[in-house]
Amino acid sequence: MSKPEVINWHERAAALKPEGQAFINGQYVSALSGETFECVSPIDGRILTQVAACDQEDIEQAVKAARKAFEDGRWALRAPAERKKILLQFADLIEQHSEELALLETLDMGKPIRDSRSVDVPATVRCFRWYAEAVDKLYDEVAPTSPSMLATITREALGVCGIIVPWNFPMIMAAWKLAPALAAGNSVILKPAEQSSLTALRLAALALQAGIPEGVLNVVTGFGPTAGKSLALNMDVDGVFFTGSTQVGKYIMQYAAESNMKRIGLECGGKSAHIILRDCEHLDEAAEAAAFGIFFNQGEMCSAGSRLILDEPVRDKVLAKIQQMAQNMQPNNPLESETRLGAMVDATHTQRVMEYIASGKQEAQLLLGGKQVRQESGGCYIEPTIFDHVSNKARIAQEEIFGPVLSVITVKGLEEALQIANDSIYGLAAGVWSDNVNTLMKATRALKAGVVYANCYDADDITTPFGGFKQSGIGRDKSLHAFDKYTELKSTWLRIR
Ligand code: ADP
Repeated sequence: MSKPEVINWHERAAALKPEGQAFINGQYVSALSGETFECVSPIDGRILTQVAACDQEDIEQAVKAARKAFEDGRWALRAPAERKKILLQFADLIEQHSEELALLETLDMGKPIRDSRSVDVPATVRCFRWYAEAVDKLYDEVAPTSPSMLATITREALGVCGIIVPWNFPMIMAAWKLAPALAAGNSVILKPAEQSSLTALRLAALALQAGIPEGVLNVVTGFGPTAGKSLALNMDVDGVFFTGSTQVGKYIMQYAAESNMKRIGLECGGKSAHIILRDCEHLDEAAEAAAFGIFFNQGEMCSAGSRLILDEPVRDKVLAKIQQMAQNMQPNNPLESETRLGAMVDATHTQRVMEYIASGKQEAQLLLGGKQVRQESGGCYIEPTIFDHVSNKARIAQEEIFGPVLSVITVKGLEEALQIANDSIYGLAAGVWSDNVNTLMKATRALKAGVVYANCYDADDITTPFGGFKQSGIGRDKSLHAFDKYTELKSTWLRIR
């Protein structure tokens, strides 16, 4: 057997010249104002490129191009099997460029290269393939009305879709929305997060190369309160589909109301409860899942199991194991293949997380970590951090930190665990461990969350919907249910003479 090739990611990174222009109507273009902003790598503070700082006038250009492409049917009116073929070609191209895309993702937002290679790129490829394969297998309906009528219920593409995504999984978040939107025949304008524009810009060229016609997939870079807001306020955008913070999700609702009552889909914040009960017989496994559930992706995950709820009889054993795992996950340069915990996305966010850690020190007991490290690298790194004896009323138990910070709450039994788990404005994900099937059934039914994991955490597949209850959002990404967001339902009555 030949040895696997060892890639020197530092060398590759030095040779990379990332694209920073927006992509409108099939071409890379500067912002009309000529404005740009620096794209800084959180690994070492290196400037990777200048990115176009688009604003309202650029959004208008992109919307015009997307509208024209939609109305002339160059994509929407193709047979689903033709769109499928092109989207499969797109997925193949993403796969062929997987090393380059993984490197861009890591340089841009700091996640370990091993994760961008083994998680982000494959999940993106799978997502496009899955929706491509789905779209020519969906049938419409005939309603059981009367013998003198034919009433059909058909789905039509929504039209021009605005897609606004965050920086924690830039490609996957974009793919979860782009793939069903494009498969259904829409034209789209993608607004990546200002912290992570690079993979979106690269994907745009691959989409064109795959045969997605110009104007159908546009990428407009820029800041939230300028480019993002203009997109959400635009009168000719039919829907805006967002993943990000709950606060900005609420703005998106307002913008939709202030403009054209466009459809919205929101996947927002979380403060997910991860419960380990006394009758769990696999405590090592549970502890491992709990550690992974908060420290994976530097804790920059909306579904992070950031509130660990431990039943008193098992708490010490579980906590000891998590501590041990956390100690072995010290942050390091994400371009090193063994790194498990990479850089935080940027200096501003690092500061935000450090402020939460300071607040945690006032409210609870710091058990592990809590420091910013590797500052000499010029990058942004925070140790895996664990707070013990946290009250569920504490800020670090109620607010989304979006960093490698775990809040541990101790309870006496199932009832108290469930009460605390549900005492949150969020309801994105929840996990529970027990070897009693009745306990599990009771818990999974009671937990108010869009995704509930029993004896596992962060299980994931494109076939299952993802999204939240309560202030974690509206609507679902993934699975066939996602098509509901990107299509209009039409009832057509035909009287038979
Ligand atoms: P995070 O806190 O994870 O950075 P945000 O909700 O601030 O999440 O950002 C998620 C996405 O929303 C990004 O693409 C960002 O540019 C965009 N965004 C931020 N503010 C606004 C806004 N006022 N209107 C529209 N989009 C916005």
